[in-house]
Amino acid sequence: MKLIDTINLSSFEGSTPIWQSPAGNLLDLSFEAILNPAVIANRRPNLWRYREAIPIVEDKHIISQDEGFTPLLFIDFDGKKIGIKQEQLFSTGSYKDRGATVLMSHIRSLGIQQIVQDSSGNAGCAIAAYAAMANIDCTIYLQTQTSPSKIAQIKAYGAHIELIDGTREDAAEATKIAAQKIYYASHSWNPFFFHGTKTFAYEVCEQLGWKAPDSVVLPAGNGTLLLGCYIGFTDLLKAGIISKMPKLIAIQSENCAPLAQAFFTHQKEYSIGETTPTLAEGIAIAKPVRGNQLLQIVKESLGDFITVTEAEITNAWKDCVAKGYYIEPTSAATIAGLKKYIAGYPDETVISLFSGHGLKSTDTILKLIS
Ligand SMILES: *Cc1c(COP(=O)(O)O)cnc(C)c1O
Repeated sequence: MKLIDTINLSSFEGSTPIWQSPAGNLLDLSFEAILNPAVIANRRPNLWRYREAIPIVEDKHIISQDEGFTPLLFIDFDGKKIGIKQEQLFSTGSYKDRGATVLMSHIRSLGIQQIVQDSSGNAGCAIAAYAAMANIDCTIYLQTQTSPSKIAQIKAYGAHIELIDGTREDAAEATKIAAQKIYYASHSWNPFFFHGTKTFAYEVCEQLGWKAPDSVVLPAGNGTLLLGCYIGFTDLLKAGIISKMPKLIAIQSENCAPLAQAFFTHQKEYSIGETTPTLAEGIAIAKPVRGNQLLQIVKESLGDFITVTEAEITNAWKDCVAKGYYIEPTSAATIAGLKKYIAGYPDETVISLFSGHGLKSTDTILKLIS
């Protein structure tokens, strides 16, 4: 089992920049987030309105496109109005910009000139975009079968691409080897990414009038938003703004559901099993680096896992586009899970999201509509 070491902000500022502990463990960051609703109310509508809750010391290092504070639209699903954060509206087309703006600002504060990263596509797009803004040399490792539109987007930002003819895990292994020499801007290892994705929780809470929802339905691949939400709601609890952690409901594709399988059988550690391809390519992670941590936080929140079939993903996607929301098929997996969840809990305040834009996956969508 991967262990987690928790360190403070100044420990990241040594002569050798770190993204994992010297023992090879995961790192979490201990940091006191300051949240003052009266001050925040007067700030620009982007995620840096929570400035004192984001672990970047000096403003001059911030790399931002005024991202965040996405609309929370109440959309009718199966006769019930559900708050859906419009995370497909970020500049690079997915919520990964939340993590990228904070992680790349941290990287700039360390004076790093060169980074590597691996991705199923969207995290690569976000890191490449913010690396371009920061003028940092960036190489993204991808599987050969990555969606052509995501490869094009990453290249367009000027990043180098290494195509790995193998599994998503092979791409991750190749990146870890490169990361022995070059800084690893990983969205699964690096804790600064989660201190960006956590702003999703702040925004949800603020947009509900500084109240927590009963539950939040989220995708679970590497769980970057799931873990971010846990951190964000924990910060809000500590600040005394909310009094209860919402239930975190994690959605996996039935074709790739290592965490759900472990959760359903009450295991503390997941095992790597058989997986098959899924329309939800963005959450097809057979070996999530922080998988056991995700099992723990979902349990602690009194939440649950839900798996969805390919037919359910397709139907949810069709339902969304028929309503005028052009989302990528990965995002429809979360909505398919949401539909299952609200059928069982009709009286709760439930929040979910559109995680990525449809223009990301023209190739898959052409197949879906033919
Ligand atoms: C990254 C991503 C997800 C899932 O994210 P994890 O952090 O791997 O759990 C879901 N939808 C889209 C569009 C994404 O880009």
